[in-house]
Amino acid sequence: MADHYEVLGVARDATPDEIKKAYRRLARELHPDVNPGEDASERFKLVTHAYDVLSDPDQRARYDLGGSDSPFGGAQGGFGGFGDIFETFFGSAGGQRAGRPRSRRERGQDALVRVTLDLKDVVFGVHRDLEVDTAVLCDTCQGSCCQPGTSPVTCDICHGSGHVQRTVRSLLGNVVTSQPCGSCQGYGTTIPYPCATCQGQGRVRARRTVSIDIPAGVETGLRLQLPGSGEVGPAGGPNGDLYLEVTVSPHEEFSRDGDDLLATLEVSMPDAILGATTTIESLDGPVDLELRPGVQGGDVLTIKGRGITPLRGTQRGDLRVGVHVVTPTRLDAKERALIEEFAKRTKAPAPRLAEFHQGLFAKLRDRFRNG
Ligand SMILES: [Zn+2]
Ligand SMILES: [Zn+2]
Repeated sequence: MADHYEVLGVARDATPDEIKKAYRRLARELHPDVNPGEDASERFKLVTHAYDVLSDPDQRARYDLGGSDSPFGGAQGGFGGFGDIFETFFGSAGGQRAGRPRSRRERGQDALVRVTLDLKDVVFGVHRDLEVDTAVLCDTCQGSCCQPGTSPVTCDICHGSGHVQRTVRSLLGNVVTSQPCGSCQGYGTTIPYPCATCQGQGRVRARRTVSIDIPAGVETGLRLQLPGSGEVGPAGGPNGDLYLEVTVSPHEEFSRDGDDLLATLEVSMPDAILGATTTIESLDGPVDLELRPGVQGGDVLTIKGRGITPLRGTQRGDLRVGVHVVTPTRLDAKERALIEEFAKRTKAPAPRLAEFHQGLFAKLRDRFRNG
């Protein structure tokens, strides 16, 4: 453990004033707000602790007598004072005594943006420019929170440590507790001339456009994470993340089943009987479809590779079209006679039970009914 006098660079008989001056000089050099390096931070802790000890006549006297006062607490710290005992037994307050001051820089918050896509966007993926209301770095101060040309000054009250100690009388004697410095809110520095643009926050609210390529295959409820696209943190801290929550609006004709697209094809009774060729409009253009003569209601025609590209993968699913044979409901006398004639000739069987159709047909039929 370094000697406190050496740490502060003062003689063993330095006056309180010399000690204070030495500390302020070092704090200005090492304070995390001006010197973010890890080494500086460690030294700042040592310097602050040395000053804590040497600026208190009682602690300094004990230190001069050889009392140990490890700032890193615990049993080996010996009887550095009742405060240490109190902290050892009750935890809490002491942990902060040698801690570093709070940093003004903090990570920005994550943001959530909702985006509504249609099914076509899901099939092919889509590019979107999203307007996001967020916090961005203040141009004027670049996150320093200070008017240009000025800088934070070491807090007079806590001398840069961000903490103040209070002696409280208790059953155990005088107990030293540490709490965040009210004058600087624990930052260890104050800002005499806050940036006028951002009121000393280091960031301002702004509308920002975020360009994003939404991949194919997303679905309702999915959240895409865009690291670092959330708001900038206080005092220019790192950006939070932006989350994009996807909603896919229902399509009139197509619904999704995994990577496949489903639709229903309404086929007239004569076309079902005689067969037909037709062209359907899929999400990526026209597709020719051949209906064999005698196609049945519930038959499923599969059009390979016209489904959805999965989120992870390149192989598109299929488009599956379920046939729905539309029975004529209004016949004139002539049509009715023709159908009766047809029935007589074919000796059409009476209605009879068969196995219930499960799976896709049921799904398609439900869809047809609901929608
Ligand atoms: Zn500013
Ligand atoms: Zn302070």
